[in-house]
Amino acid sequence: MSEFDLIRRHFTRATPNALLGVGDDAALLQVSAGKVLAVSSDMLVCGTHFFADADPCLLGHKTLAVNLSDLAAMGATPRWATLALSLPGADEAWLERFSAGFFALAQRHQLDLVGGDTTRGPLNLCVTIMGEVPASLALRRDGAKVGDEVWVSGNLGDAALALAHLQGRVHLSGSEFDAVAKALHQPQPRVALGLALRGIANSAIDVSDGLLADLGHILAASGVGAEIELAAMPVSAVMRSQPALAQRCVLAGGDDYELCFTAAAHHHDELLRIAHELNLPLTCIGKAVAGKDCIVHDASGSSIQLESGGYDHF
Ligand code: ADP
Ligand code: MG
Repeated sequence: MSEFDLIRRHFTRATPNALLGVGDDAALLQVSAGKVLAVSSDMLVCGTHFFADADPCLLGHKTLAVNLSDLAAMGATPRWATLALSLPGADEAWLERFSAGFFALAQRHQLDLVGGDTTRGPLNLCVTIMGEVPASLALRRDGAKVGDEVWVSGNLGDAALALAHLQGRVHLSGSEFDAVAKALHQPQPRVALGLALRGIANSAIDVSDGLLADLGHILAASGVGAEIELAAMPVSAVMRSQPALAQRCVLAGGDDYELCFTAAAHHHDELLRIAHELNLPLTCIGKAVAGKDCIVHDASGSSIQLESGGYDHF
């Protein structure tokens, strides 16, 4: 199979959002009036972000999901993506399943794959995603204000707990593992939440490197500190049954792809309404304060001495 057959067969679909999609030297895209383009890239590298024998369908999902999560954190509507692939070979069955996982999620978000690049090499998957947002409503990291409440969506730490099991650092039963493995393999990007937070949140980030690391980015960009409550952290039942690991998984686990955001306290009830509407738990975990440190209180109110931050590749 030639490179062009491969692209035609596995990565060419209708692109209703584009003036011109896959097949020319470049795609042609029209940004809607009154909106700006939100652009982000995220790369998944075999051996670093996933195991070589990872289910290709789940990998297709996750490759796009981590990118959609970045747009969600900006409050942007997903529109287009490009996909740069480095593949050790043209494995038809693998490509079939990878693209099925990728396009199933793309379709759910009405996102068009409009181009990319395909080359032979070590397995490496890189998406550049583009979305739209009115410039004044984009959710940035630098807007948190003293007095804001700090919120997170969903549960924290399940992906890290599933990874700990796969690496033999903890043993979960079959049903426990199944309950947390979904967070690791099939993260659900919080696109609808990002859109609902336009005009409400003062700042937002997606939690990919661990809550403390990512909240730390908001605090640094905004020039504020935070006080957060460990007891308030949203965790699954499986996580509650692993008290020895819970703190590290929840605060520094990574791969959560939930949104962490801050909003003025007068939006509290509205946020609970949004949670109900989206059928997605939103939990207030603390507040932004003057200063620059993030202080974590345990259930008794004393501050916790924290180990080093989140995941850092270098
Ligand atoms: P060029 O040589 O002009 O860079 P390519 O041969 O790399 O073009 O790609 C041909 C067309 O296929 C282009 O429109 C490109 O965007 C698209 N394309 C290449 N790889 C992918 C991929 N993995 N997914 C989607 N589109 C792709
Ligand atoms: Mg090319």
